[in-house]
Amino acid sequence: MIPRLKPYLDWRELLAAFSWPHQDDVGRFEQAFAAKMGQKYAIAFPYGRTGLMLLLEALGLKNKEIICPAYTCVVVPHAIVYSGNIPVFVDSQEDDFNMNLDFVPEAITDKTGAIIATSIFGYPVDLDKLDNIRRTYPHIYIIQDCAHSFAAEWKGRTVQKEGNASIFGMNISKLITSIFGGMVTTDDGELLEKLKALRDDRLKPASFAKSICRLLYLIAVYPTFWEPVYGLINRLERSGLLNFFVKYYDESVIDMPADYLEKMSPVEARVGQVQLEKYDAIVAHRRKMAALYHEHLQDISELLLPPLVEGATYSHYVPVVQGRDTVLQQALRKGIQLGWLIEYGIPEMKAYGGHLSTDFPNAAQYALTTINLPLCEGIKVAREVIRVISTIIKRG
Ligand SMILES: *Cc1c(COP(=O)(O)O)cnc(C)c1O
Repeated sequence: MIPRLKPYLDWRELLAAFSWPHQDDVGRFEQAFAAKMGQKYAIAFPYGRTGLMLLLEALGLKNKEIICPAYTCVVVPHAIVYSGNIPVFVDSQEDDFNMNLDFVPEAITDKTGAIIATSIFGYPVDLDKLDNIRRTYPHIYIIQDCAHSFAAEWKGRTVQKEGNASIFGMNISKLITSIFGGMVTTDDGELLEKLKALRDDRLKPASFAKSICRLLYLIAVYPTFWEPVYGLINRLERSGLLNFFVKYYDESVIDMPADYLEKMSPVEARVGQVQLEKYDAIVAHRRKMAALYHEHLQDISELLLPPLVEGATYSHYVPVVQGRDTVLQQALRKGIQLGWLIEYGIPEMKAYGGHLSTDFPNAAQYALTTINLPLCEGIKVAREVIRVISTIIKRG
């Protein structure tokens, strides 16, 4: 079974995980991360969402409206609510998964405190349009959500530097992983101090038990993505027996993981440092895979391909197809797990107001029609995926 996602892990991460702790593993990871992202400071958190929550608090935002995409990971509005603020959703573009920045001015009110600009699937947010918004509304904070994109570039400018701060997620489904964990980066020294103070005040130190749990989780990841085992896991997952890898709680209630207020463990920081060294190679590989899919799937008219964008980092390569379930099932029968991404419309959830799908039509469409092609494997696998998809869809 070819998995829909797979972390780039080898013996180096295991070695790092088991190596003797340094004085300050988390601090070292933060420094290396900031350097890699070209920012002055990075602050580590147990999850990206914890970082976002405390970032909003550090910016002094309370009871404010925070503008975010309707089509994003549901943990983003969760973190907004947990910070004591109110998410306000903006639909995607018709031909682009990112939030439509032309709709943002309409969403701005006296209560708007921040805009979360997200480069979803690694497609850089349009920084020219964002610049206009920043010029018109200089009092509104801009937060870049780089959980998918990391250092994606818009016309040569890296997205993570274009705002007051940026957030990153590093669970095993992300471009690089620290097992779990998140980062906030900024160039603002004052904000750094506030955020650090909040972190030390609100989060408890990582316990030894947490380090052991993370280590066990990491060890379990290796065999999980081994092909024969992955087939079994996939069956268990579909039967609902196993749902803990990246999704382990109910997404329709506003909730956080049990340990969201416990700091990143040193084990995670050491794994993250190894992954950071692989970052360039990982992105280069994904760009190559995306280009290959693009070249060979172009003439299937039933498949709407995502664009190839210079500077995109392709956390995912996500075509749009009608009749998605049939395609997914048939691919699975041929040993390929395509899966979907963000298969929910956040504003439609009861917890977020139960809006009609017609209120955010593009996000609602994407939630129903996107499929995810594997990017982590080699060229040989890509060719197999291309072959299978072509036969499935052409047969109709
Ligand atoms: C993964 C993700 C985050 C952060 O997730 P955590 O699991 O809290 O680290 C934030 N935004 C988006 C769009 C994501 O996909």
